[in-house]
Amino acid sequence: MNAEFLAKSAARERRKDQDMKFFLPTKAYEEKNCVINHAAELAALGKKALVVTGRSSAVKCGAQADVEAALSKCGVSWVTFNKVEENPSVTTVMEGAKLGMAEGCDFVIGIGGGSPMDAAKAMALMMKHPQWGIGMLFTAGQDNSAVPMAMIPTTCGTGSEVTPASVLTDHEAGKKGGIPYKLFADLALIDSTYLGKAPLSVLRNTAVDALSHLIESYCNALADDYSRMFVREGLRFWAMNKAALKGEKEITAEDLETLAHASVLGGMAIAHTSTSLPHGLSYTLTFDMGIPHGVACGRFQKGFLDAAPEEDRKEVLALLGFESTDELWDMYVKICEVIDIPAEILEKAVDSAVKGGRLATAGFELTPEGARTVAGL
Ligand code: NAP
Ligand code: FE
Repeated sequence: MNAEFLAKSAARERRKDQDMKFFLPTKAYEEKNCVINHAAELAALGKKALVVTGRSSAVKCGAQADVEAALSKCGVSWVTFNKVEENPSVTTVMEGAKLGMAEGCDFVIGIGGGSPMDAAKAMALMMKHPQWGIGMLFTAGQDNSAVPMAMIPTTCGTGSEVTPASVLTDHEAGKKGGIPYKLFADLALIDSTYLGKAPLSVLRNTAVDALSHLIESYCNALADDYSRMFVREGLRFWAMNKAALKGEKEITAEDLETLAHASVLGGMAIAHTSTSLPHGLSYTLTFDMGIPHGVACGRFQKGFLDAAPEEDRKEVLALLGFESTDELWDMYVKICEVIDIPAEILEKAVDSAVKGGRLATAGFELTPEGARTVAGL
């Protein structure tokens, strides 16, 4: 049934009445040893790098050593800021940018999951605008220019290395969300070897985030055949990892490559469409309850797909090799820790997503009541 459906859907891929746009200014390399292989391009970004990482994973996974070897080889110096926390705060961004400016850094290298990469992007923005204060991070309508930057992912979820987004938390204002700037990295260096030391929970949580990007991009108001090309390929690769993610087989180097690839494709897809309601709902769960980003987004995938047009739901499920959204939910429950979420938190999540304009991002009509259904209320 899947093969038959896919054959049919291929025939209607190009919708002639649609305007389309493709824009992705990031040069991306996806290969083993790519940091060393492309050392000269990395070093050409500037004279002194601000290397931005989380607390320890950049060292553990070997990415930081590769960056240092690459920069040393090319005679470029650096200073390291290794204090980025999960769901990075605006104050961390200001602290890192201040260090970069005090040390005379003229470019930024982010190494890590989405947290260090997003923080690094925002630091590159602030280093370009030394006169800006912290309040500018969430102020819309400003200049998007930033100092040059390279991103090196060490998880398989956010795709931040190829997206224009930077998601920050403002504890004082009590909110988490994307800042209103388009911050594309100049260079993305993707080496799945760095996933080798990641605990299974990190691989699972971040893979579910990548799946959310793919689903939310597919069922998106801005989806076109370009963005769906990335989604279709991403879903196909994501599906290859189901057994490994469920723990039914050992995770091999090839599985890590596939996971990294699906994540990058998800990033390329949302670079065009942005995300939609599940991400909009997720931020409250993460902010109020500390639920990891991927787990928070994944919780709403089934509801979102159930609300989507049948044709779209069918194609997404077919590419994933699921017969129904119940099977998708079963997979989620198997690989993510599902905890009870109080109704008032879900109501708050819906309220914030509606106020944040998330209903209009769906590629189908979604009312506030429909958003409550997606949220499981
Ligand atoms: P993360 O918050 O960057 O990292 C989660 C944990 O995984 C940290 O403890 C980290 O340790 C560890 N870790 C990372 N790489 C590892 C490795 N290779 N081996 C072992 N441990 C590793 O996780 P994430 O899910 O990638 O990023 C989530 C953030 O990205 C959220 O703030 C989310 O909103 C944002 N996001 C951004 C975009 C975008 O387009 N910009 C899209 C989706 C989500 P360390 O602290 O030691 O590094
Ligand atoms: Fe995400």
